Amino acid sequence: MAVETRASAFQTAQRRFDAAADVIGLSDDARLGLRDVKRELTVHFPVRMDDGSVHVFTGWRVQHNISRGPAKGGIRYHPSITLDLVKALAMLMTWKCAAVGLPYGGAKGAVACEPSKLSPNELEHLTRRYATEIAILIGPEKDIPAPDMGTNPQVMAWIMDTISMHSGHSVTASVTGKPVDVGGSEGRVDAPGRGATYLTLEGLKYLHVDDETPTVAVQGYGQVGRSTARLLAEAGLNVVAVSDSRASIWARSAAILARASALVASRSCTLRTSAWTVLVPAAVQDQITEENAGRIRARMITEGANAAVSPEADPILHDRNIFLVPDIIANAGGVIVSYFEWVQDLQAFFWEEEEINTKLHHVITRAFYEILHTSVNKRIDMRLAAYALAVQRVANATTVRGIYP
Ligand code: NAD
Repeated sequence: MAVETRASAFQTAQRRFDAAADVIGLSDDARLGLRDVKRELTVHFPVRMDDGSVHVFTGWRVQHNISRGPAKGGIRYHPSITLDLVKALAMLMTWKCAAVGLPYGGAKGAVACEPSKLSPNELEHLTRRYATEIAILIGPEKDIPAPDMGTNPQVMAWIMDTISMHSGHSVTASVTGKPVDVGGSEGRVDAPGRGATYLTLEGLKYLHVDDETPTVAVQGYGQVGRSTARLLAEAGLNVVAVSDSRASIWARSAAILARASALVASRSCTLRTSAWTVLVPAAVQDQITEENAGRIRARMITEGANAAVSPEADPILHDRNIFLVPDIIANAGGVIVSYFEWVQDLQAFFWEEEEINTKLHHVITRAFYEILHTSVNKRIDMRLAAYALAVQRVANATTVRGIYP
C-alpha cells in the first residue's frame, strides 16, 4: 500500500519554484541551477553553560543563490529548526529579494536551541561562537545576516562585534537589524509591518473598497503583527481584533485595542473565519489551510507571516476571489529596510526615518504593481506572479553572467 507522506518544507519550496519556472518557460538547464541551494554549512560548536557544563549546539548557514548580489537572510533560533527548513527559507529569500528588486541573493541561518531557556550570558556565548563558525561565509560583500524568529537587535550587535574582532575594525555592514547605536537604521523595527500596511492600503484601493470603513483582524501580536495593527489603525482602518498564542481580543473600536498589548481577552473570537474586510495572519506558518480556506470570509489577506497560507489553500482562496498579498512581498518591508541599513553602513551616512519610509513606500508599491500586472495579464494568482517575476530576474542575471547559454 502506498504511503502518502507530507512534502518537506524544501520540497514545497521547490514545487513553488517549478510552478513559476513553468509560467516563464525556463529551460531545464536553468532550472537545475536554481532548484537547489548553492552552499550549506553545518556547524557543531560547544558552549559553556552558566552551571559549568558544556553543551554542543548545531547550527547552519545556507546560501541559495548569489547571482544578483551578496546573499541576504535572517538567523533563526528555534528548537525544532532543521536544515531542510533553513534551505527552504534561503530559497524564499532569493525570490523575495528579486521580487522587490533588491541587489541580493538569498540565505538563511539557524541554531537549534530554545532561546527563552538560555540566560543572557549563554545566549551571548552561543551567538559569538556561532558567528565565528559561520564567519567563513558572512561579510558585507558576501552574505549579510539579519534577525528572524528567536533573534533580535542585541543578537545582531553581538554578531557584528564578533566579525569586527576578527577584522580588527568595526564592520557595521556585516549584519542588519542592529540597534541604531551601532549602525542600525531608523525605521527597521516597524519595517515589515509598515510594508504590510502600505500593501494592504494598495490592495483595498485595487479592490475599490475605499468607500466603506474596512475592518481588520490581525493574528499574532509580535514584531510584525503589533506594528501592522498600529499602523493600519493610524491609517484609518478599523482594527477590531488581534490575537496571540494565548488569547484573542475582539473590540468594536480601535480605541479598545490600544490596551491590547496586555492581551487580556475581552471576548474570544475565531479570528481566521470571522467576517473582516482584511485578515492579516502575522504569527506562524500554516494558519490558512485546505481545511479552513473555504470558510474564510475576508475580502483580502495580507500574509504577514512567512507561509501562513499553505500551498493547498492558495487555489481555494483564488477561486473564492479572496485577494492575497503573499508573504514574499507582504513582509518584504523588513529586508527592504535592511538593504537601506546596509547601504547606510557602507556609506557611513545615515538617513532620517521619514526618508526611509518614503523610499520603502516607493520600492514596495512598485513591486506590488509589477506583480499585480503580471497576475492580471497571465491570469495567475499573486503568489505565482511574484515567483514568476522573481525567478525570471534571477535567471536573467544568471544568463547574462554567462552561466547558462
Ligand atoms: P514574534 O515571535 O515577534 O511574534 C509572533 C506572534 O505570533 C506572537 O505574538 C505569538 O504569540 C503569536 N502566535 C504564535 N502562534 C500563534 C497562534 N497559533 N495563534 C495566534 N498567535 C500566535 O515573530 P515576528 O518577528 O513577528 O514574526 C512573525 C512572522 O513574520 C514569522 O513568520 C516571521 O518569519 C515573519 N517575518 C518577520 C520579520 C521580522 O523582521 N520580524 C520579517 C519578515 C517576516
